[in-house]
Amino acid sequence: MLDKLAAQESRRMLGDAELAERAARLSAQYLGGRAVPDNVRWVTNQNTRWGSCTPAEGSIRLSHRLQGMPEYVIDYVLLHELAHLLVPGHGPRFWKLLDAYPRTERARGYLEGVVAAGRLPHLPAARDEESGQ
Ligand SMILES: [Zn+2]
Repeated sequence: MLDKLAAQESRRMLGDAELAERAARLSAQYLGGRAVPDNVRWVTNQNTRWGSCTPAEGSIRLSHRLQGMPEYVIDYVLLHELAHLLVPGHGPRFWKLLDAYPRTERARGYLEGVVAAGRLPHLPAARDEESGQ
C-alpha cells in the first residue's frame, strides 16, 4: 500500500502534464518558442535512448529511466528532443541550438557517467559483488 502511494506520488511529481509544461518553458527560454510539440510523455519501453522525437507527429518521448535524475539532466534531454523538432541530426546547427542551455556539457557528462556506471558490474573486478546479490 505504501509502495503504491509512493509510486503515485512520484508520478504526480513528474507526470506527463508537467513534462509538457517544462517543454513549453524550455522552448520559450532557449528556442524562442519555435519548438512546439503536440505531445510529450514518458515511456517505459525505451531502454537504449534517453529520449526520442518524431517531428512529423510533433511527439517527444522520454525514457522513464530519467525519472529521479537531477532536473537539469531531464531538462537537457527535453531540450535536446525539442531542438530535433527544428533541426534533425546532430550537425553544427543542432548543437548551436543547445549552446544556449548552460548545462548541456554537464548534463551530457552526467548521462555518460550513468551509462558507464551501468557497465561496471560487467567488469571482472565487480563480478563477485554482482553474484552476491
Ligand atoms: Zn539527438
